[in-house]
Amino acid sequence: KDAVEKTVAMDKNDYKGVWVYIEQFDGKARNVSHELLGQGRILADAMGQELAGVIIGDNVADLAKDAFASGADKVYLVEGSEFKHYSTDGYTITMTDLINTYKPSVVLMGATNDGRDLGPRVAGRVGTGLTADCTNLGIDEATGYVAWTRPAFGGNIMATILCPDHRPQMGTVRPKVFKRPEQDFSRTGEIVRVASKVKAGDIRTKLIELIKVGTASCNLEEAEIIVSGGRGMGKPENFSLIEELANVLGGTVGSSRAAVDAGWIPALHQVGQTGKTVGPKVYFACGISGAIQHVAGMSSSDLVIAINKDPEAPIFKMADYGIVGDVMEVIPALVEEFKKI
Ligand code: FAD
Repeated sequence: KDAVEKTVAMDKNDYKGVWVYIEQFDGKARNVSHELLGQGRILADAMGQELAGVIIGDNVADLAKDAFASGADKVYLVEGSEFKHYSTDGYTITMTDLINTYKPSVVLMGATNDGRDLGPRVAGRVGTGLTADCTNLGIDEATGYVAWTRPAFGGNIMATILCPDHRPQMGTVRPKVFKRPEQDFSRTGEIVRVASKVKAGDIRTKLIELIKVGTASCNLEEAEIIVSGGRGMGKPENFSLIEELANVLGGTVGSSRAAVDAGWIPALHQVGQTGKTVGPKVYFACGISGAIQHVAGMSSSDLVIAINKDPEAPIFKMADYGIVGDVMEVIPALVEEFKKI
């Protein structure tokens, strides 16, 4: 009801500026936040408006310098021990309050676990829409609105979505869609400190234990080399070959959804439309056919090397190098050769 009333009362001219939610974990900003600052700078310049970062956390003021270096003109900073770890309630209350108070025209968030949780809740509360999981962002020439692009209909078309009637224009954007900008540490900006509005009892969840799952061994979004295995690996035990090749190259193990669905590897390794979007320097696709939903998550890799026994496999159409052969023979041979380097 509140959101509907707000929508009716909304005057778009009151909303100015591009915001990037700077997601942090353990006091470190996620790469995607910097990628979005880079793209946010381009949008803000095109709109003739300022770019601001929003930082919520406990003792995170240092992140502001980094945000200025990546292009922000201003940082809204909300600190408090209640923000030490992400909580849906605490961060939603805070982000909603900031938007209602300072009225940005555009809000960008990473399509991460936290961003996917926070974005839609905040959008609902401030009475606007949200385009989730975008793979591109630009300005629509005819209207001057942000043009959000995302896959639709199972990845068969790319839809471009505008938000004509409501503000802010909000969206979550996948990591690695944009390159991290070159930082300029001579840039400075204004820090606007905002007091926390979170009251005792507002946060209804309690963090009991933080279990770090595979961040070191499976940080696919930030990996420079990824070796992915698919159904063509034949059985779960054969994934040890994928691990061996990844190890010898200092890479990270990825997979297709078929391998995840078969229970051969945990879902956090999945690359693709419903998995991670990756952009490594080198991507090995081993026994992966190259379905559109898989390619949607790895097509921005700099170099793709495909190993498949079927010369007609679609993956070869987008691969830079293709090896037609059995993964059980080709991968051990590659491991042997790479060990010599
Ligand atoms: P297959 O398509 O079965 O391909 C196996 C390949 O291995 C074949 O090309 C075969 O020639 C080759 N092969 C077999 N044996 C050998 C051997 N010994 N040596 C060498 N090559 C061999 N998929 C994803 O990956 N990620 C996603 O995020 C994703 N999201 C989806 C979302 C939706 C809504 C839908 C409908 C589907 C999604 N899929 C996703 C599934 C996708 O459509 C494919 O089914 C999946 O990618 C196929 O995985 P695969 O390439 O491992 O298996």
